[in-house]
Amino acid sequence: MHPATRRAIFRRLAAANPEPKTELEYSSPFELLVAVMLSAHTTDKSVNAATRKLFPLANTPQAILALGEDGVKPYLRSVGLYNSKSRNLIGLCRRLVELHRGEVPAERGALEALPGVGRKTANVVLNIIFGESEIAVDTHIFRVANRTGLAPGKTPRAVEDALNKDTPEEFKRHAHHWLILHGRYTCTARLPACPRCIIRELCEYPYKTPSTPGKPLALRGANSFLGNHSRKSRTRSTAGMRKRRPTPAA
Ligand code: SF4
Repeated sequence: MHPATRRAIFRRLAAANPEPKTELEYSSPFELLVAVMLSAHTTDKSVNAATRKLFPLANTPQAILALGEDGVKPYLRSVGLYNSKSRNLIGLCRRLVELHRGEVPAERGALEALPGVGRKTANVVLNIIFGESEIAVDTHIFRVANRTGLAPGKTPRAVEDALNKDTPEEFKRHAHHWLILHGRYTCTARLPACPRCIIRELCEYPYKTPSTPGKPLALRGANSFLGNHSRKSRTRSTAGMRKRRPTPAA
């Protein structure tokens, strides 16, 4: 992608939402850390539903440790993988108390050493709480970066590295939220809303959703970040359709 196109994409996303915010609810660095950790493989909505009940009762490492693993489990049932998330939450709180006086550390190494905290969670915390220009790549950002051509990559780390290398400095701070929200509400996995997308003329995705339902929709798969629109599968599907239903001559 040409650097001017990349810059134009971020300009439009910035103009539409100058101060993007996480949709996770939190009122302290610790609450954000817990919410992001719990959000793995689930939605922000289900995390918020769980933490709205948990945090009024226990929103410090010490208070959650006092609840214990069995005590937090009932609150985490709605977030999925609640057995391992409960275990990690208790381990995380114990480590914060023992090594960090109950505070959320500001260093990547210390964050990633916490149970249940990987690179993505650390990046979100470093970005939101400590104001660093880290770009955490989740499933939405991975899809948007590949489809648009902003930062193609085969793994989340490759996309993160490409975004860090090529995103203009002035947009890095909010790039994470702009791309995540764009992927969540516009460039969705199954049916991207291309007709109403604010960056559609700049996006390099070759299989955009047409304004009126038509043949390309019938070719659409559901599972990959490209919606199974790899050139190979498209060619195969198109060939199959042509066989069954020849295109009439104009
Ligand atoms: S034009 Fe379509 S594919 Fe491109 S970013 Fe917008 S919604 Fe996604």
